[in-house]
Amino acid sequence: MFKTKTINDFYQVNHLKQIYKNLHELQFQVARDILAPIEDEVNRLTSQDELILNDIFLLKQVLSLHGSLITMWEEIYNMKYSSSWNYLQNCLDRLRNINKFSLNNQKSEALDFFEKQLLILEKLYPYNIFFSIGMVVALYECSICGKNIDSLECEHDIGELYNGKMAVSIAKDITDINHVSLVSIPRDKRCVIQYDDNSPQFNRLQFLNQQLVSNKLTPITLYDADETPRKKLNENYVELERNEKCFCGSDKKFKKCCINKKYIEEQHIKLIIHDEFKLW
Ligand SMILES: [Zn+2]
Ligand SMILES: [Zn+2]
Repeated sequence: MFKTKTINDFYQVNHLKQIYKNLHELQFQVARDILAPIEDEVNRLTSQDELILNDIFLLKQVLSLHGSLITMWEEIYNMKYSSSWNYLQNCLDRLRNINKFSLNNQKSEALDFFEKQLLILEKLYPYNIFFSIGMVVALYECSICGKNIDSLECEHDIGELYNGKMAVSIAKDITDINHVSLVSIPRDKRCVIQYDDNSPQFNRLQFLNQQLVSNKLTPITLYDADETPRKKLNENYVELERNEKCFCGSDKKFKKCCINKKYIEEQHIKLIIHDEFKLW
């Protein structure tokens, strides 16, 4: 995953297996306590070598991913679904960087597993419309050289690494925020319509929570989700003559109304676990 031996060796020694084991056992605080000293150590790493500095950036992304992963699962466990969404998005942001800067796009088996899992989890949330803020920006400045990003003086490419720092454009002189729109593919998926954690919109997450709390699955064994509609007997259904008034109170004839509603379709979700899967 890393381009330099220095950081690769560091990662091998400070393996994250204890974190996975504690996630599996729902020991979120313990997992965080294992992560913290590794993060401290990485923050102290330094080098003159650009490749090593870029690898340190990558390593920080990996550790930050694990921090968000722990908290995301903890929030799901504590029924704080809308908050867990933000941590899920943090994880996906980190993974995007990890994929981009890893050697040959290769990453560890564990990270492959979590990437797949996070994309499955994302679909369990009720969000498909997002807010997007439109603004008028007079100038975008380069975070590396401080010059106008569109000028010839800036030689940096946005999103690339320079001595372990990612070049980003900083909006300067925001003259106007002129609209807020609703979009389906937003720049930031954290801008969502808020629902109460107890609301039916979170029914899939509530189901996931029950499975987690009752030990039917763990953050390490949740492997896939299958959501297929299935037919369910309609409990309100009354068998009537075709020309009788419908049971539903619509004042229409049965044959023109609910005659075909003996079975109703309900969304049914099956969470698939992978029992033997071990990351430690
Ligand atoms: Zn620049
Ligand atoms: Zn009816």
